[in-house]
Amino acid sequence: MNKYAYGIDVGGTAIKYGFFDNNGVMIRKWQTPTNVEDNGTYILNEISNELSLDMKKNNVKKDEIAGAGLGIPGPVNKNGIVQEAVNLGWKMIDAQNILQNLIGIKVKICNDANAASLGENWMGAGKGCKDMIMVTLGTGIGGGIICNGKIVNGTKGYAGEIGHIHINDFETDKCGCGNTGCFEQYASATGLMKIYQKVTHEYGIKMDNAQKESCETVFKKASSDVCAQKALEIWGEYLGKGLSIIVNILNPECIVIGGGVSKAGSIILDLLEPSFTKNVLIDLHDTSIKLATLGNDAGIYGAARNILKDREA
Ligand SMILES: [Zn+2]
Repeated sequence: MNKYAYGIDVGGTAIKYGFFDNNGVMIRKWQTPTNVEDNGTYILNEISNELSLDMKKNNVKKDEIAGAGLGIPGPVNKNGIVQEAVNLGWKMIDAQNILQNLIGIKVKICNDANAASLGENWMGAGKGCKDMIMVTLGTGIGGGIICNGKIVNGTKGYAGEIGHIHINDFETDKCGCGNTGCFEQYASATGLMKIYQKVTHEYGIKMDNAQKESCETVFKKASSDVCAQKALEIWGEYLGKGLSIIVNILNPECIVIGGGVSKAGSIILDLLEPSFTKNVLIDLHDTSIKLATLGNDAGIYGAARNILKDREA
């Protein structure tokens, strides 16, 4: 009886592994550095070796395992083909089949933001929500859409790229995607720092390099520094506006906010609330917005869930 699964989160600097039972209990986790040499050629081999080693060490048999789920930092199409993963050096790789042949257990690959969403939906803040959106606030903004318990992937794997919702016609700086005026140019950690610099400039405060703040310190100074306060207000306006667009389109039961920025805590919910309420349909004011609870483990939880849920279907 296959009652276990591996959940693997492949990042540009580290590969995180988790071993789970089918009730969502994480039995162990560990990580290894990502070998991005030669356009990431060795990554799948190294994952296969790592899993073989773990099975041997812990005396786990292949028929006890439902499979290995992987979250990859890039779009993945319906057939498990990674379209592109810049941080790994991958382009158009049938990673799902290659790894499956190497290791001899079922492998299922999805985008890492989608994996994190599935993880929060399984064992985190979105537990019990059939329709959930996860928004990951970091250097950029990632997202995942869970509809009726399933990831919405899109034809090419780009569904849930909410960081690139266009919200400003007047922006001249380019977003990482090549367009201008994207949601993540304002409501990400990078966006907050840009807003903060602009506000301090407007207040005539010069910042030398030593004084340059991090996103974390801006949140810490929220109650004492007028520039930090103003910057967070503007940032919250953008965040609330972006979330209202998503909610008006998808009417989820709940939104889960994760990513590095979410560590700032419930102040985020207070900051986005006025603009969210102003812009969302009146009937959807009561949409629940929560902070993620699984932190950096959301991806391994979700990758494992992605394999285990197939057994239930
Ligand atoms: Zn963009």
